[in-house]
Amino acid sequence: MPLVPMRILLDHAAENDYGLAAFNVNNMEQIQAIMEAAVETDSPVIVQASRGARQYSNDAYLRHLMLAAAELHPNLPIAMHQDHGNSPETCMSAIEQNFTSVMMDGSLEADGKTPASYDYNVDVTRKVVEAAHAKGVTVEGELGCLGGIEDGHGAGLTGEEAMKHLTDPAQAEDFCAKTGVDALAVAIGTSHGAYKFTKKPTGDVLVMSVIEEIHKRLPNTHLVMHGSSSVPKELLDIINQYGGEMGETYGVPIEEIQRGIKHGVRKVNVDTDNRLAMTGAIRKVFATKKGEFDPRKYLGPAREAMKQECIKRMTAFGQAGKAGKIKAKSCKEMIDFYKRAK
Ligand SMILES: [Zn+2]
Repeated sequence: MPLVPMRILLDHAAENDYGLAAFNVNNMEQIQAIMEAAVETDSPVIVQASRGARQYSNDAYLRHLMLAAAELHPNLPIAMHQDHGNSPETCMSAIEQNFTSVMMDGSLEADGKTPASYDYNVDVTRKVVEAAHAKGVTVEGELGCLGGIEDGHGAGLTGEEAMKHLTDPAQAEDFCAKTGVDALAVAIGTSHGAYKFTKKPTGDVLVMSVIEEIHKRLPNTHLVMHGSSSVPKELLDIINQYGGEMGETYGVPIEEIQRGIKHGVRKVNVDTDNRLAMTGAIRKVFATKKGEFDPRKYLGPAREAMKQECIKRMTAFGQAGKAGKIKAKSCKEMIDFYKRAK
């Protein structure tokens, strides 16, 4: 099956009350881990690449990895998403590279660091929606700012500072009306990276009520949770057991994500958990088989460890068992859909 627009997957998830994990890809082992997990669970797939990933792997390698996934798995719908596009130019270059969905993150200026004005955000996001929908490509916007930094992208806010940049539900309503985005990333107190919370989060730092409020106002907009790795203690323990030095930290509990899914969250970004799983597996090989020097002997276990994390998320979010039920559409077919919606 050719890559499908992300909107198809989000719509099916909304109609059937489940959420989709969006996993980041930088190399071959990661896309293989995701696809093996999807095969095992019959899951539709969202893979995403940040600007950093596109630089690291090179667009051509990345594009062909995605095309290989589609060729090898004709029965699984796969959406390819640009994570945190910093400008309309980045989004348009992603579309040229066969991405079927783009995020225009206008919550920050083009430097990817400075919190932007609301008017700037509306302006750049609307531009991307116009251009992307004309090609049938899905658009995710962002309102409010998350804590932390991801691949060099982010205002670098502390958890406390991020609390001042939560998404305003009334503004979200206005934003979606003015821009026409398919999906909206919301800020509810989460941060990118491994160090999200210093203790298991409660409602004063992980403000799920914001999601419920936005969903009430915008029942037809697909909501996106960023920075939503769960940072399982057992993954940190493996890293530390084999020579790592990661401090105590807490992520977003699975049950809170499931609560979000009950209130309109359709896309859940998970990257840190996969990084932790791969790192732990590689450290274990290095610590226990000190004579090993074949990359396949540590990248293979890393791939397997990431696959297991993906299976857990796909199952917990409810996308498992859904791939076969989705009627795929091409970006071309979506062009008419957007024309009719105007
Ligand atoms: Zn993000």
